[in-house]
Amino acid sequence: MKALLTGGTGFIGSHTAVALLEAGNEVMLYDNLYNSSERVVGAIEEITGKKPGFMKGDIRDEARMKECFTTFKPDLVIHFAGLKAVGESVAKPLEYYDNNVGGTLAMLRAMRETGCRRLIFSSSATVYDLHNPSPYIEGMPVTHATSPYGETKIQIETILRDLAKAESDWSFVNLRYFNPIGAHPSGLIGEDPNGIPNNLVPYVARVAHGRLPFVRVFGGDYPTRDGTGVRDYIHVMDLAEGHAAAANYCLTHKGEIPINLGTGRGSSVLDIIHAYEKACGHEIPYKIMDRRAGDLPSFFASADRAKSLLGWTAKRGLEEMCRDSWNFEQHLAGKSA
Ligand code: NAD
Ligand code: UDP
Repeated sequence: MKALLTGGTGFIGSHTAVALLEAGNEVMLYDNLYNSSERVVGAIEEITGKKPGFMKGDIRDEARMKECFTTFKPDLVIHFAGLKAVGESVAKPLEYYDNNVGGTLAMLRAMRETGCRRLIFSSSATVYDLHNPSPYIEGMPVTHATSPYGETKIQIETILRDLAKAESDWSFVNLRYFNPIGAHPSGLIGEDPNGIPNNLVPYVARVAHGRLPFVRVFGGDYPTRDGTGVRDYIHVMDLAEGHAAAANYCLTHKGEIPINLGTGRGSSVLDIIHAYEKACGHEIPYKIMDRRAGDLPSFFASADRAKSLLGWTAKRGLEEMCRDSWNFEQHLAGKSA
């Protein structure tokens, strides 16, 4: 199979490229490098012994996308490209709608003109309504999101559903990711956000390394087991393998379907800190602070649909997620030393 990965040099795209190459597929990475580096292409080759194709380009550039489709002739697209910072999306809604929704429309037009009709989309658990109880099940209501970022995910899912209804030859799988963390065990690829990380695990990694003084635990009075927020953390390599399984599904089914990619288990902020302490071998300082605006107390996935339709379940636990994150962090420090 030939897969075109938009946003393919990013965090999840690069790990998915590894999983697809290792399963014997051909891969083309299409990315404007807004939030990633071309160095990742070499790292993927070092891990797999296979060279992915790479084309620098923006998904909003329809002519460039068409060029990519006509030269590479993919069987399907895995669409990771997008802006993803929730807080930034509140401050810059126009940029988010333009890049994520506008970019997806341009890409779909290029697909239609060049004859590619299969797409896996990087959606998110953020599409579920606030009031849904966990576990989140795919049939639960999706009406509006709490940020422009989340709204772009809902709008793109809606566009894909409408297109599949109107033109029966399309196949769309909307993968709703929960909280991807960790890194490839080689330490050669992972997540390295610029500036102070917004997400928990990259923040914990920097505290473990002494680059930040303590973890700010946002809220200690939630109605959860230990009072801290609960999420469904999933190893990025499990997520990557979920895409390989979804690709097989997408090649053999028409229409549109949302599928959760999560473990089905919730872990608290303190669970993460303690698992990370085991991984790095020392204590990690933390302080309980006020809740972060907009955070939910707790949510996790129902992983049943992924199991029944894709034959996929997440295999890796918190310890492995933190071990691989820590290994990547040490590689980064080695590179910058
Ligand atoms: P990432 O930022 O590491 O990767 C996204 C890639 O897309 C980057 O390499 C960036 O340069 C590229 N890109 C952005 N806009 C582009 C454009 N207009 N044209 C071409 N390339 C463009 O992010 P990630 O964590 O790998 O996320 C991948 C996808 O998964 C995103 O759509 C994100 O919204 C979604 N997602 C991520 C998470 C998460 O926690 N990481 C959770 C749910 C959903
Ligand atoms: N969190 C925290 N400190 C941080 C970042 C996050 O306590 O520095 C908590 C946050 O309140 C939530 C969980 O960690 O309960 C996961 O947050 P993250 O931003 O990683 O993902 P989200 O689920 O918000 O997308």
